[in-house]
Amino acid sequence: MNAHVLGFPRMGVNRELKWTLEKYWRGEIQENELLSTADQLKKHHWELQSKAGMDLIAIGDFSLYDHVLDTLAMLGAIPQRFGWDGTLLDLETYFQMARGDVEQSIPAMEMTKWFDSNYHYIVPELSRHTPFKKNNGQLLADVLMAKDLGYSPKPVLVGPITFLMLAKEVDGSTRWDHLERMTTVYCDILSELAPHSAWIQIDEPILCTDIPEEARTAFPFAYAKLKAAAKGTPLLLTSYFGELDDNLDLALSLPINGLHIDMVRGPDQLTTVLSRIPPNLTLSLGLVDGRNIWKTDLEAASHTLNTARQTLATDQIMVGSSCSLLHSPVDITVEENLDPKLRDWMAFAVQKCDEIAALKQNMLESAPPRLIKENKAALEARAIHADVMDSATRNRIQALTPEMYTRTSPFAARSLVQRARFKLPLFPTTTIGSYPQTSEIRKTRLKFKKGEISESTYTTAMQSHIATVVDRQEELDLDVLVHGEPERNDMVEYFGQQLKGFCFTSNGWVQSYGSRCVKPPIIFGDVSRPEKMTVAWADHAQKLTDKPLKGMLTGPVTILCWSFVRNDIPRSEVCQQIALAIRDEVLDLESAGIGIIQIDEAALREGMPLRHNEHEHYLRWAVDCFRLTSSGVKDTTQIHSHMCYSEFNVIMKSIAEMDADVISIEASRSGMDLLEAFKAYQYPAEIGPGVYDIHSPRVPSTDEIYSLLQKALTVIPPERLWINPDCGLKTRDWPETLESLKNMVSAAKRLRKEY
Ligand code: GLN
Ligand code: ZN
Repeated sequence: MNAHVLGFPRMGVNRELKWTLEKYWRGEIQENELLSTADQLKKHHWELQSKAGMDLIAIGDFSLYDHVLDTLAMLGAIPQRFGWDGTLLDLETYFQMARGDVEQSIPAMEMTKWFDSNYHYIVPELSRHTPFKKNNGQLLADVLMAKDLGYSPKPVLVGPITFLMLAKEVDGSTRWDHLERMTTVYCDILSELAPHSAWIQIDEPILCTDIPEEARTAFPFAYAKLKAAAKGTPLLLTSYFGELDDNLDLALSLPINGLHIDMVRGPDQLTTVLSRIPPNLTLSLGLVDGRNIWKTDLEAASHTLNTARQTLATDQIMVGSSCSLLHSPVDITVEENLDPKLRDWMAFAVQKCDEIAALKQNMLESAPPRLIKENKAALEARAIHADVMDSATRNRIQALTPEMYTRTSPFAARSLVQRARFKLPLFPTTTIGSYPQTSEIRKTRLKFKKGEISESTYTTAMQSHIATVVDRQEELDLDVLVHGEPERNDMVEYFGQQLKGFCFTSNGWVQSYGSRCVKPPIIFGDVSRPEKMTVAWADHAQKLTDKPLKGMLTGPVTILCWSFVRNDIPRSEVCQQIALAIRDEVLDLESAGIGIIQIDEAALREGMPLRHNEHEHYLRWAVDCFRLTSSGVKDTTQIHSHMCYSEFNVIMKSIAEMDADVISIEASRSGMDLLEAFKAYQYPAEIGPGVYDIHSPRVPSTDEIYSLLQKALTVIPPERLWINPDCGLKTRDWPETLESLKNMVSAAKRLRKEY
């Protein structure tokens, strides 16, 4: 019985890779120093796996930027604009692909989310010119290095079909046109790796999604060739992030030696898999969650292994992580500031390896390992802990009524009373919430966090930043003002820190993309709001101006999606609890006289399940949670929501069902094209399509904004059009912010003259 993980986090416990990469990019260190740090990290991760008792060591899961980028580099699928000459790819070109080259004005390759995780991969581009030519220096070198060190290497590759499915097609080329040539390169790579590898892991998470017919045909074609190229070295096909479901028979029909299934997100598939598994196929059971931070229920997992053992021989079973541990922080033992009780409920990557080893040991040895006993005690303590189950919150959830999800009047009626109340001009101008977070703001926040300044000093400083932001907005003559969010480090963490049921790590970083990491809050218990969170800041800002000030909150779905969530109750229930807490805040803002309240749902779209047949259920509860948050207010209170993305087609119905009075969306990069979806759906309420991209310091001209607005007006009736940037301005500097907004307001004024 082999124990293994599908991959290990790359950054290092202190984010060593991040710091080294950034030094390299700044030109402070040479290539050899970067590569030597990378080698040290790899070796360290192999050693950790091995010491914990992993039989197979994942190789090639490490990356200097992203594993999909590594794969496309290895396959020689390098877009023409990077001028690759077909020889071994240099590091400079590699990073150019990831980050672009401003001096030579070569745009970077696109980046997008890896399935439904928060990790971003580089999107392969398939054009008629894509060369496909083997270029695999690093992986083979790493396998040899690991073998030299005495490990059993298990190289990890992104599978060919997943690769093709994740790629984007450019210049009219079709992904499947590339299958044959690409498979040949995969075969070359495999035949080089095979003699030195114990197993070869090929990741095909695409099998846990709805796949087209072409993919079904491509699988047997590619895998017959891969099998031949591996010359007897066993192939482990991995599926993860869900159930194989309708792709199970396809997976089982392939000429592979092992199949990995995700037993965390697809536990129910085991029975079917066991009933259909061919005689000599090894089954790898992903029992330890790679996507969350809780200790595994080792007793239940052992029970699952026992079930498998009734059908399979012991050496026909592998035990592993559900997916790569890339999505998990590194080591819980460094969390010295975390409440020890909470720490004892959690397992990060290092501890997950121990859990996998313990599961194997528990199967094979007569006396259960110590960890099994400790695990049971920790789980029992968690289950009954008073902070986990808060009866006041449970009672409120029990007492929810349908009225709590519905505004008093429909939008048409609300909009009349809101017009009378706010008397805004046609095409009202506003911003999305944050204003530049200057280094002074960050420093002040840090000093307060470290206890170097008193609360009153901090409050005064922030109030003065708010006053500046309000003044500047008045000078710009914006119509609906905001306080600027200087007190917020992050739109989720800020709320999590004030809500009961959340905790925070000091070092629980997870890679988001490249050297960027995020440190998600952890929701461990029932959520409630002990005290008002934002009212004092909003109230302070409103008192400084006669114009309406928009209160600013993060919505429940976004808070949920960007946190590690408890796994003992359904996500939808956790979301409901958060919704109630934010609803309390909405009502308090309203009572304080804040007439316009924005509830950001930046993550509504990304929370969508991978399988289409699960979308409706998700959208139902997600939208309901938003409505629960926003529906307690009077008709005269205007609810805004903001969503920063531009693919609305599939969720149009749900966006409308949120029943916000105004929504702002990202639209400038699509040149307002996305508004077609709103027209087609006859979206009833008011919309602020972003008129400029906030990701770059470029100042949009008045003309440019004006013509975007003209375009928007072909789709949206004038009385429902708002004018705002694509998103918040916190990453921008003041000079370009003022210029851009000045032009935005001018464009609005020019337009008003025509109506
Ligand atoms: N209100 C937030 C801000 O302006 C919204 C950020 C977001 O949508 N990502 O920063
Ligand atoms: Zn946004």
